[in-house]
Amino acid sequence: MRILITGGAGFIGSHLTDRLMSEGHDVVVMDNLITGNYRNIQRHASNPRFEYIHHNVSNHIHIVGDLDWVIHFASPASPVDYLLLPIETLKVNSLGTHNTLGLALAKKAKYFLASTSEVYGDPELHPQPETYWGNVNPIGPRGVYDEAKRFAEAITMAYHHKHKLDTRIIRIFNCYGPRLRLDDGRVVSNFIGQALTGKPLTIYGEGQQTRSFQFVSDLVEGIRRLMEVEHHLPVNLGNPEEKTVFELATLVKQLTGSQSEIIKKPLPVDDPKRRLPDITKAKQLLGWQPKKDLLEGLKETIEWYRNELAQHK
Ligand code: UDP
Repeated sequence: MRILITGGAGFIGSHLTDRLMSEGHDVVVMDNLITGNYRNIQRHASNPRFEYIHHNVSNHIHIVGDLDWVIHFASPASPVDYLLLPIETLKVNSLGTHNTLGLALAKKAKYFLASTSEVYGDPELHPQPETYWGNVNPIGPRGVYDEAKRFAEAITMAYHHKHKLDTRIIRIFNCYGPRLRLDDGRVVSNFIGQALTGKPLTIYGEGQQTRSFQFVSDLVEGIRRLMEVEHHLPVNLGNPEEKTVFELATLVKQLTGSQSEIIKKPLPVDDPKRRLPDITKAKQLLGWQPKKDLLEGLKETIEWYRNELAQHK
């Protein structure tokens, strides 16, 4: 197959690129590197099956040749990034989704949208099944991401209904692993970076808010399986093991052997209090569930950050 991945130089996009390249497909990565990193895909640069196009998908997209899939993963995705890049975030998930849908239609390609657990906002239902409509503040600081992703889902469903486009939508819950940018501000990268450099681990609020953390290889497996199943409604992909932020900090300290103290900082506005995916659908539809245990995943991620920090000394 020939597959376009927008945001293919990003954290998740580059792991998906690796997977599809290893299966022998032709991959075109399109990225403008505002949050992605070319180093994530450099290993494929000399492969004739690989192509990199530096382009902002919020502008009209032109691709020469056929495509079997358009996979839209381009977007700032950490709360810190999308607060710094609010307009870009709104545009890539609205205009960028429209452009990539139009491209898929023109190429008679299938379409895959990366959506997010943020469509559930600060959920009032726990755990969150796909049927839950969410509790989002449209004008709060996270609205630029949450509402844009909700629009992205709506327009993807509209293209499916109106144009019979063969579409997929996943809602990605917190994901971590190698290549998660050290400075992207998410909790796993922050804690590991802080622990390895002897800085205090910064817990926002009391640290009693919960998340569940899925390792990136599990997510990529779920994506790959959904590509093979014709199902157009959103599918949650996440790890069903709930942890408090405080528990995560303790675990990171333990696994890094760090002497760093844990300090408290103000809780960001609209920070979801609890988040946990109901993955019944993914289990039934895809026979999928996360395999990597948090301890193992964190160890692997810590090793990767150790190398990164050593290289950039
Ligand atoms: N968080 C924290 N310390 C940090 C970074 C994040 O306590 O240095 C908290 C944050 O307030 C949130 C959780 O960790 O409750 C997960 O934050 P992240 O930015 O990773 O993603 P989110 O799940 O909020 O989109």
